[in-house]
Amino acid sequence: MRVYKVVKCPRCGFLQLTTASRSVRCFGCGLSWSPEPDSILFSSRDLEKARSFLLKLKRGEGVEFKKASEAD
Ligand SMILES: [Zn+2]
Repeated sequence: MRVYKVVKCPRCGFLQLTTASRSVRCFGCGLSWSPEPDSILFSSRDLEKARSFLLKLKRGEGVEFKKASEAD
């Protein structure tokens, strides 16, 4: 059974969706790394749920996420 995981690259912080359990290739920096519990932000057998979680993360909704400085 496939499990879709939202993972965060330990090197560049790139967020992506993967079904891999042993080795993930980062689309951001090209690093191959092994997902550990700390770097798996979400997992589900439902692709749509995993995808919508990823989209929310990328939009910075409901999670701690780097925000652009508002002071100028
Ligand atoms: Zn990366």
